[in-house]
Amino acid sequence: MEGIDFTNAEHRKVTIIGTGPAGLTAAIYSARANLSPLVIQGPEPGGQLITTTDVENYPGFPDGIMGPEIMQKFEAQAERFGAELRWGSVTSVDFSVRPFRMVVDEETPVVSDTVIISTGASARYLGLENEARLLGHGVSACATCDGAFFRGQEVAIVGGGDTAMEEALFLTRFASKVYVIHRRGEFRASQIMQDRVLAHEKIEVIWNTEVIDILGDKLVTGAVLRNTDGSNERTLPVEGFFVAIGHRPNTDIFADFLDRDATGYILTKPDSTYTNVEGVFASGDAQDHVYRQAITAAGTGCMAAIDAERWLADQEA
Ligand code: NDP
Repeated sequence: MEGIDFTNAEHRKVTIIGTGPAGLTAAIYSARANLSPLVIQGPEPGGQLITTTDVENYPGFPDGIMGPEIMQKFEAQAERFGAELRWGSVTSVDFSVRPFRMVVDEETPVVSDTVIISTGASARYLGLENEARLLGHGVSACATCDGAFFRGQEVAIVGGGDTAMEEALFLTRFASKVYVIHRRGEFRASQIMQDRVLAHEKIEVIWNTEVIDILGDKLVTGAVLRNTDGSNERTLPVEGFFVAIGHRPNTDIFADFLDRDATGYILTKPDSTYTNVEGVFASGDAQDHVYRQAITAAGTGCMAAIDAERWLADQEA
């Protein structure tokens, strides 16, 4: 924010940060309310559905639809009504002044009377040095994106939630063997998903175990495992290493202004998308750690647009 001159900054009524289901639904609603929203796409345009194959639970598509295709439809619908989608990421904000200040890609100032946050969430990693180094070279946080690269090979996936179960099952379509590595002796995933994993002939669960290193020069060759009680350090030879240990909301740039919970989810007032700063609204996975579905994100995006529209009308009254 320092060194950025806001004197002649572009001034909008509504600026939406993020283009997943929440942001683009907010864009459709606020564009149809004649508010000409500016939509800053963010580092992962389209959000998490872009990395998904079949979406079978989004109402209105009885035969399912591919993740990227449904997001193209969201985008086309928002643009049809006059939303302006712009490449770039909001890198800092100042919500202590009005109109609110934002900087895009560390250089372009934008000011806005209202802001709708729909920055979503991103995959969490174990935090190992070699995990970061080998990301995209055998390490992945998205089995649906990268599973097909491991045809006939042995792979491992870490985690005990629904995502880990779903992805382990997906990986069995390609891999010859899938190890599920979990740090406890029971899964937290739903019973039906656990049952499918435990019954699958290609899947072997390694309980009460943590991953302490990932091996490989240019490509992954194995993972170093250790029992959670510190015993039995050993190497598991695998060529693919998948991480499915949950997600982290993309809300750090708002930390100085917005109330968040201990994991970083933005707190909103009950039955609304109001944050603690009047005129700033939050929707989608940036504020929802419970449901985290495309349809619920779209629902809260719609709420945020209506909240922003009414709030603007009250200010002008
Ligand atoms: P969860 O938070 O449910 O599970 C994360 C898993 O990762 C847990 O088993 C946790 O272990 C483990 N874990 C966390 N941190 C570490 C670490 N540092 N090292 C090793 N293991 C770790 O996340 P999910 O992404 O699986 O699911 C999120 C939400 O989305 C859930 O509500 C889930 O039900 C829902 N979902 C629903 C689906 C569906 O219905 N089809 C599909 C996918 C997700 P521990 O158990 O010990 O805490």
